[in-house]
Amino acid sequence: MNNDVVIIGQGPAGLTAAIYASRARLKTLVVGNFNPPSQAAITGDIENYPGFPEAIGGFDLMEKLKKQAGKFSAEFKTSDAVNIKETESEGKKAWQVELMGESVTTLSVIIATGASPRKLGVSGEDKLRGKGVSYCAVCDGALFKEKHVAVIGGGDTAVEEALFLAKFAKKVTLIHRKDRLRATKILQERALANKKIDFMWNSIVNEILGERVVKALKLKNLKDKKESEFPCDGAFIFVGYTPNTDFLKGLLKTDREGYVIADDNMKTSKMGIFVCGDARKKLLRQIVTACGDGATAAFSARLYVEELKGIAYK
Ligand SMILES: Cc1cc2nc3c(=O)[nH]c(=O)nc-3n(C[C@H](O)[C@H](O)[C@H](O)COP(=O)(O)OP(=O)(O)OC[C@H]3O[C@@H](n4cnc5c(N)ncnc54)[C@H](O)[C@@H]3O)c2cc1C
Repeated sequence: MNNDVVIIGQGPAGLTAAIYASRARLKTLVVGNFNPPSQAAITGDIENYPGFPEAIGGFDLMEKLKKQAGKFSAEFKTSDAVNIKETESEGKKAWQVELMGESVTTLSVIIATGASPRKLGVSGEDKLRGKGVSYCAVCDGALFKEKHVAVIGGGDTAVEEALFLAKFAKKVTLIHRKDRLRATKILQERALANKKIDFMWNSIVNEILGERVVKALKLKNLKDKKESEFPCDGAFIFVGYTPNTDFLKGLLKTDREGYVIADDNMKTSKMGIFVCGDARKKLLRQIVTACGDGATAAFSARLYVEELKGIAYK
C-alpha cells in the first residue's frame, strides 16, 4: 500500500514531522539510521530547548519524540535512503524512495537527514579516527579521563564540547584559527572561567601525529607563521558541518555546500518533496528550529497529499 509521506531521518526535524503527519492521519513511514547518528541524540545536556529549565539529555529528548510519534501510529524502519525517483501510483504522481535492499512508494517525501561534522582534511585524521580523533565528545569523552585533549573549533559546538570534556579530562586546550570565539556569549563566559580549559588562538592544525593513538598535533600560528608540535592524547574536531544530502544526487536545488533550498513552507524545487532541519539552507541550525521546520514540512505535505487525492478542504 502507498504511503502518504515518507520521512527520511529520525532526528528532531524528522520526528516532529512524524508527530504532525501522523496526527493529520497521513500514512506515515519514518526511515532513519544510526550512522550518521542524529546530532541531537549524541548531545549531552540541552539547556536551550524550551520547556526544560533543568536541561534535558539529547538522547532522552529523542526517545520522547519517537514515543510521541509512535503514539499517533507513525511507522518506523531502520534503513538508509539511497535514492529518490519519480514514479506514478494509481494514476497520481508519486515518489519511489530506495532503501537498502527494498524500495517504498509514497505521494510525498520529507527530507530530514541533518548534517555531519566536517573533517579537517589533514594527514593522520582518517588513520587515527577512533584512536584519539573524535567528532563526538558525548560518545568518546569518558575515554579521556585525566588526559589532555585538544578541541579544534570556535563555534557553539566546539565550546559546548570543550565544557563537556572538561568534566573528564585533566586539561582541555581549545585551538582556534581566530583570536576570539564565535560561540554564544554564555558559553564563552563558561569556557573562559573554566580552570581546566585553556586557549590557543590564531592557530591551525596541519597534521595529527601518532602511530596507533594520537600523540601530538602539528600546529601553525597564523600570526608569526611558526610551526610547533603540541603533545596531547586526543583531538576533538568541530569545524563545521556538511549536509547529509549526497544521496539526492542532483534531484533538488541546493546551495554550493549541498544544503537543500526551500521556501518558507519547506517546499523544495520538486513538487511533493519537502525538507526540514539542518539539511535545509537556513540561518540557525538548532533543535528548536529543526522541530519548527518539521511541523511546517508535515503541514505542507498534508496540504499537498490532500490536493493530490482530491480531498482538500476548500
Ligand atoms: C555536539 C553537538 C551539540 C549540539 N548542541 C545543541 C544544543 O545544545 N541545542 C540545540 O538546539 N542544538 C544543538 N545542536 C544542534 C542540533 O543537534 C541540530 O540542529 C539538530 O539535531 C538538527 O536536527 P535534524 O533532525 O535536522 O538532524 P539530525 O539530528 O542530525 O538527524 C538527522 C537524521 O537523519 C538520518 N539520516 C541521515 N542520512 C540519512 C539517509 N541517507 N537515510 C536515512 N536517514 C538518514 C540520521 O541517521 C539522523 O537520524 C548540537 C549539535 C551537535 C553536533
